[in-house]
Amino acid sequence: MVIEELEKLLTLQKIDNEIFEKEIEVNLFPEKEKNLNREIEIFEKKIKEIKDDFKKLQLDRKEKELEIKSYEETLKNLNKKLDEVKSNKEYEALLIEITNVKKKISEIEEDVLILMEKEEEIIKKEKDLQQELNQKKEIVSKTIEEEKKKIETLKKEIENKKEERELIVKEIDSKIYNLYEKIRNTKKDKVAVVKIEDGICSGCYMTLPTYIIEKVKKKKEVVQCENCSRILY
Ligand SMILES: [Zn+2]
Repeated sequence: MVIEELEKLLTLQKIDNEIFEKEIEVNLFPEKEKNLNREIEIFEKKIKEIKDDFKKLQLDRKEKELEIKSYEETLKNLNKKLDEVKSNKEYEALLIEITNVKKKISEIEEDVLILMEKEEEIIKKEKDLQQELNQKKEIVSKTIEEEKKKIETLKKEIENKKEERELIVKEIDSKIYNLYEKIRNTKKDKVAVVKIEDGICSGCYMTLPTYIIEKVKKKKEVVQCENCSRILY
């Protein structure tokens, strides 16, 4: 009688453990999905930063180009003045001024070139990152898709297992079943029925007193471990 009940309990426990493990996996999915999406977000942030850098460089360059234009205007005026000078001294002073302006222009032009090179580098970097991001997005969405399918399957399996469970629970003596549930709900490992192995309770690893082992052997009643309360067999 008790042996049959115990066998049913063990079957029930097997089903419950399967449900428990599957539910853990189902519950882990949202966090998994979040982490996968976070990878993409980090990447997008990096690209945005690069784009901002690029804008800054462009603004910087435009400013310098305007500066060149203004110096060129100055140069034009100086050249005009050159035609109208009346003395050598004035002429020489103008020449010096023209040389200085030309020097200034060529300095800024060099800066502009450096900025343009930097812009090119950034464009390339952005393109590479964008490509990498697209690949990553593809992988992530595929992974999420697969995970979702897996979760759907798991949910169906859980449903099936729960139906299977119902049938077995109906067959178990309600007192024994309630005891099983009570123990199970207090245990982290969700194990309520455990084997005696070499005189030790395999639930809490305590050595069991002989009289308990004898009681279990007689198979006339449900025996619990005095330490962890699990049902012994
Ligand atoms: Zn125990």
